[in-house]
Amino acid sequence: MPQTHRTQVAIVGAGPAGLLLSHLLHLAGISSIVLERQTREYIEQRIRAGVLEQHVVELLNDTGLGERLGREGLLHHGIHLNFNDTVHRLDFNQLIGRSITVYGQHEVVKDLVAARLEAGADIRFSVADTAIHQVDTDQPAVSFTHDGDSHTIECGFIAGCDGFHGICRPSIPQDLLRIHERIYPFGWLGILAETTPPSDELIYSSHDDGFALYSMRAADVARLYVQCAPDEDIANWPDDRIWQALGERLGSAGGWSLNKGPIIERGITAMRSFVAEPMQHGRLFLAGDAAHIVPPTGAKGMNLAVADVRILSRALETFFASGDEHRLKDYSARCLARVWQAQRFSWWMTSMLHRFDDNDSYGRRLQLAELEYLTSSKAAARSLAENYTGLPFDEG
Ligand SMILES: Cc1cc2nc3c(=O)[nH]c(=O)nc-3n(C[C@H](O)[C@H](O)[C@H](O)COP(=O)(O)OP(=O)(O)OC[C@H]3O[C@@H](n4cnc5c(N)ncnc54)[C@H](O)[C@@H]3O)c2cc1C
Repeated sequence: MPQTHRTQVAIVGAGPAGLLLSHLLHLAGISSIVLERQTREYIEQRIRAGVLEQHVVELLNDTGLGERLGREGLLHHGIHLNFNDTVHRLDFNQLIGRSITVYGQHEVVKDLVAARLEAGADIRFSVADTAIHQVDTDQPAVSFTHDGDSHTIECGFIAGCDGFHGICRPSIPQDLLRIHERIYPFGWLGILAETTPPSDELIYSSHDDGFALYSMRAADVARLYVQCAPDEDIANWPDDRIWQALGERLGSAGGWSLNKGPIIERGITAMRSFVAEPMQHGRLFLAGDAAHIVPPTGAKGMNLAVADVRILSRALETFFASGDEHRLKDYSARCLARVWQAQRFSWWMTSMLHRFDDNDSYGRRLQLAELEYLTSSKAAARSLAENYTGLPFDEG
């Protein structure tokens, strides 16, 4: 039986962007329906990002989502840079009085789903055939199927929070979109291992063999990455090879030891920078990975998704309170100003720390000179600290 529903904002995608938008709108008294093609269990187990900027932590705390984050999140005041057999710590707290918190993206998603369901939210999991309609009118709609039935949501606005491979961005006429893209000639092989991380803060290692990152999700769960080919077959990386590469790239300068442990998750992520402009078409607003992607080196992906939906929720609040559309009209430009700062930072970190196969000795020496400068100049270190802990949200 076809069914029709009505809401103020239809949200496609229950990742951090879609769920947080639904939560922020709810706090402002605006109704929404969230559509997700995966099951609840799937999105709550999906291992992805894990570094939260200070502004993001503050927003989650201020909107009632900080209880478990405060208990289980790991507050970090700095990071280590490891190169040329030397280790340098950048102390964010000392440099700019700010910090980051390590808390898995799937934990943020669990907290959001729990908060939304407790508030009686309408989240439809396992939907299929999602399509958006009439976005260039003031009566847009979203259709989908669920348990074999056809549904239509009539709404005031559609939020495209459906990630890089979703349907919202491709629904915008391609001649209205400008795509900016860079594909990197490497990927990251990431593992989650039941072992003590080598350090209680993140270690970024730039090694002649390639980049490695030593991070964590809990005191006894390490999240470790090694640079690999973008199209690498994971079967070529048995456990011994992964641990060997991690050990060599960590080196001995920091006095750390790499403790092997059972690998409970593994995967390869290709590295890409991508921006689609504008982030709006008619009554469709793109947010998060649906509009932009960064390589994970700067730990910005989830943080950008949060910043977008904060700006979008404010704009929708203004519209529903007074009919004033100026913030909605500014949405794309305001998000993109911040997105490009994060793009620049993520590209810069990626270029400085990875091995490029076509790099000659000149290119490598430039990378090392940049790292030396960064770790010897307070001004350069402050710039990294400011970007890493997060530029302010433009909410005004
Ligand atoms: C494998 C991987 C590893 C990553 N690791 C890191 C990291 O270490 N550090 C970092 O900072 N960032 C990382 N990122 C990036 C970060 O996870 C993303 O930036 C973040 O998930 C963006 O949130 P989002 O809500 O915009 O999109 P997503 O989290 O992708 O959520 C989009 C949601 O939409 C749903 N969806 C898609 N199509 C449809 C449809 N047609 N109908 C209904 N629902 C749909 C999807 O199932 C998904 O749940 C990683 C990303 C990936 C893919």
